Amino acid sequence: MPLYLRFLLPLIGLLLVTDLPLAALPGTTPHCPALDANDPVQREALMNHVCFLSAAPDTPAHRAESPRELPADIQWTSARGHDLVFSHTDSVYWVRLNVRNSDDSQKLWYLKLNYPLLDEVTFWRSSELVEPALTTGDQHPFLSRGIDYRYFLLPVTLGAGETQAITLRIQSSGALNVPLSLETPETTIAESNHLTLIHGVFYGALLVFAIFNLLLFCSSGTSYYFYNAFYMASLGLFLFAMGGFANQYFWPDSTGFANTSIPMLMSISSLAMTLFGRSFLEIPTNTIADKVLTGLALTSAGLFFMAFLLPYNKSIVLNTGIALLIIACLFIMGIVRWRQGYSPAKWYVMAWSGMLAGALIYSMAAFGHLADFLAREIFMQTAVAAQVILLNYAMVQRWRLLNKKLLDVEHNARTDLELKVHERTAQLRSTMRELEKANRQLATLSLNDALTGLHNRRHMDNLLPELCAEARRTGQPLTIALLDADHFKAVNDSWGHGFGDRCLQHIADILRRHVKRPRDIAIRFGGEEFAILLPGTDADGALGVCEGILEDIATIRVPADDGTPVTLTMSAGTATLSQGDDERDLFRRADEALYRAKACGRNRTEQATPEVS
Ligand code: GH3
Ligand code: MG
Ligand code: MG
Repeated sequence: MPLYLRFLLPLIGLLLVTDLPLAALPGTTPHCPALDANDPVQREALMNHVCFLSAAPDTPAHRAESPRELPADIQWTSARGHDLVFSHTDSVYWVRLNVRNSDDSQKLWYLKLNYPLLDEVTFWRSSELVEPALTTGDQHPFLSRGIDYRYFLLPVTLGAGETQAITLRIQSSGALNVPLSLETPETTIAESNHLTLIHGVFYGALLVFAIFNLLLFCSSGTSYYFYNAFYMASLGLFLFAMGGFANQYFWPDSTGFANTSIPMLMSISSLAMTLFGRSFLEIPTNTIADKVLTGLALTSAGLFFMAFLLPYNKSIVLNTGIALLIIACLFIMGIVRWRQGYSPAKWYVMAWSGMLAGALIYSMAAFGHLADFLAREIFMQTAVAAQVILLNYAMVQRWRLLNKKLLDVEHNARTDLELKVHERTAQLRSTMRELEKANRQLATLSLNDALTGLHNRRHMDNLLPELCAEARRTGQPLTIALLDADHFKAVNDSWGHGFGDRCLQHIADILRRHVKRPRDIAIRFGGEEFAILLPGTDADGALGVCEGILEDIATIRVPADDGTPVTLTMSAGTATLSQGDDERDLFRRADEALYRAKACGRNRTEQATPEVS
């Protein structure tokens, strides 16, 4: 947190350029002209009227408990218009201001000390040099301030023409600022009102952002929302404590905790910003960066507990060092991640840069290197607010990136799926086509005779009832003929089964030749038994067809394997559908006719006599 620079600069000052602000102030000859409290211009330039004394340990001025105990020969130094900033934390600081009321238009002013984190502050009015007018500071309960206000306020009452020397004794561990102002009650109230509004907006916004991120975490389970909420809450609390509000509202009676709370909240903020940074920048696990950040997070957690054990001075220095290290690491990692092409890192780096610049300007101004107005709390708050807004914007960018990735993944998955569905559908179609073809083949096979290629018995059984029904309906004749090879057993026995099969094929060819009409059907319904269905043909027509077949069979010889021509004959029986016949009757009558043909000597056709019903 760049705000820690506020603590770092005194540290650097301590190590390198000891007492830089004091060294810059000239004059061992004091020049502390009385301030005309009625003159707003003089009030504005109050620091031109302030003198101070830095009393190192083991000096009489350090030991003095009241202005009267100060050695007579002490040399006051003029503040020369600058806010007083001290790095020497062991010293006691004496501050003096002479105030005069030039007329009787106003009697009450407030001397305001705009820095809430001072351990011990004692005010004396010259009229009461022995007894202090106000003894207060962090190490006293908040009530000791007299007025319920987070800064220190001393009411200054002056009669017309009266002059008072106001003396302050300040002792504090850590960096020490003494920004003083003399205000009329109206100004104090008005300024307090304005600041209340600004602080309300600032802390309110931080709280809302923190709660919003916490809710996002609860609903999405994404950890960086939690870390962002944690970071903003701890940053807000830290600033709240730095601004003196925590003392005023959270622990007004706990005198020891005022000092402990600052390093404690600083370590929590360090931990929060480490965790948030690691999560936001998506630092890959088990890398050096990850290990460094884990180490820093653990150190911050350790410092949290150390805040209760170590003295404030040491604790604050350690915390400042770690915080600065964390800021530097995260800043570098942010830049590295940005250069690696992780685009939200850009906003993260910008947020840190703005905050760093703001804190640097604030710190430099606080130490007198830049115009005083830059050292106001509001300036720091603006920098923090800008950081918070940028970080949240960075989070939105990160969310957008994630969303885009998700959409891409979804799009790719959908395209893949569509392709696969397409492929599978094509495969399915082709399989279906093959299946249909196979079915057709199967159907053909199941209705045909494998040896002769004629239709088989099943086909005849399917067809005959239909043909009978049709003949009855249309009144057209229907005749069937059953044909049986004569003495075929003997053919097989004499010439072999293979030759017998060839003979059956030969018979089938002759049947095909004679069954010419489109609706006529030739069938092999048993071993050497054939049938022909002749719809629309009467008994005479069928007789003609059968005689033609039998003649061809008897005259066309079949050559055996050794070339011997073998003569075959067939017998046939025909029957024509008569009234009241069904397919079974028709078949039976044809069979009886065939039987007769066999009985009458074979190689002939017999007609069934019509059924007499
Ligand atoms: P019939 O004149 O009384 O009909 O005498 P047949 O020998 O033809 O009659 P039978 O019913 O006694 O014998 C039929 C023979 O047909 C028996 C069998 O050897 C033969 N046969 C039946 N189916 C086939 C076949 O698919 N191939 C061959 N090669 N022979 C078959
Ligand atoms: Mg037979
Ligand atoms: Mg036979």
